[in-house]
Amino acid sequence: MPTLSIDGFFRVEIVTSSPAATSESPPAPPPAGERPAAPGLSLDDWTAWMKERGESAYRAKQVVEWIFKKRAAAFAEMSSLGADLRAALDAAFRLRPVSLVKAEGAADATRKFLFRLEKDGRLVETVLIPATPGLDGDRSDRLTLCVSSQVGCAYDCKFCASGLAGFARNLDAGEIVGQLLEAERVSGGRVDNVVFMGMGEPLANFANVTRAIGILNAHWGVGIGARHITVSTSGLAPQIEKLAAIEVPVRLAVSLHGATDPVRDRIMPVNRQYPLDRLFAALRVWSERRKQKITFEYILIDGVNDGLDEAEHLARRGRALGAKVNLIPYNTVEGLEWKRPPVRRQQAFFQVLQRHRVPCTLRREKGHDIAAACGQLRLREETAAGIIPPGRA
Ligand code: SAH
Repeated sequence: MPTLSIDGFFRVEIVTSSPAATSESPPAPPPAGERPAAPGLSLDDWTAWMKERGESAYRAKQVVEWIFKKRAAAFAEMSSLGADLRAALDAAFRLRPVSLVKAEGAADATRKFLFRLEKDGRLVETVLIPATPGLDGDRSDRLTLCVSSQVGCAYDCKFCASGLAGFARNLDAGEIVGQLLEAERVSGGRVDNVVFMGMGEPLANFANVTRAIGILNAHWGVGIGARHITVSTSGLAPQIEKLAAIEVPVRLAVSLHGATDPVRDRIMPVNRQYPLDRLFAALRVWSERRKQKITFEYILIDGVNDGLDEAEHLARRGRALGAKVNLIPYNTVEGLEWKRPPVRRQQAFFQVLQRHRVPCTLRREKGHDIAAACGQLRLREETAAGIIPPGRA
């Protein structure tokens, strides 16, 4: 099976059946599990694939239009392409790399989707979140999609459900973009914002995540503005510096959850690898390169990181970087002992930041009733299905 390496705006390997190869013995189509996911390919990739088959570059434009604009559900629907080409596409690629297993809705209209990855049957979750009313009280109909970047997570944050069963694998770019295509198909809505705040550590899956970002942003692709794409990280300092240099100026959110090393060490093992000084050196690189504000995510966990002295440290760090802070009351996770602080404690913490004039929100969390925090739904389903050994969950 010839393998074609293409340098588009990212590098990709496509398994292809080229006409040259077919003249001897027709190659068998790749096994279903190995067919590349079509939504993960760029216009350049398609152009190269078409060229390899002796087709015109115009065909590549038609294919991306069918995938991203007309939202074809099958290659057979791509009626402007010849039957042979449609069949070849169908044999070589998977058009829909993720499929819906189950959708849950919360009272506040947040919807959570559990998707099966067609490649190997693993499960990931994706959450669709309607915008909160604006500060001026306007209701906005903006939709945010929270996508997963990995099955499981290797970073072992002590409060998080995603890492409970360990790390299984990276998602490929098509599986990331595919979450958006399927969520829109199922909900009938149009996503305005994408946040990489689902399962996994996006910066530990750098190549696939940045490839997905390119496709989400491209005018021939999904067409979401760079400022409406946010990558959230637990604090992988070198990769933050790398992300600051990519072409698409996405936003950055950092899951801080502690403003001093002892507090952060206790709940986020990544802090031992990249302690706060190293992390903040990377954030300064980011700030010099990109002009937008960084967001700190800060989960409030009772008796762990909610002390008012920690709030003072957080305020100082926030001010030094010109960052904004999202305070999020902890969502309880089955099997974990952590809980959210009482409301008056949350408010006292919030007021410290306000006093220091750090832009700050105290989130009225969404989707609590559907286990919308990172990894919770998938954990429940995979455990029930025996995919995750019960002892690990
Ligand atoms: N690994 C990346 C992306 C995951 S984002 C990161 O850490 O940023 C998911 C966000 O949800 C993170 O800020 C994470 O810390 C937070 N989170 C995880 N478990 C949570 C819980 N039980 N309650 C509230 N937030 C949680």
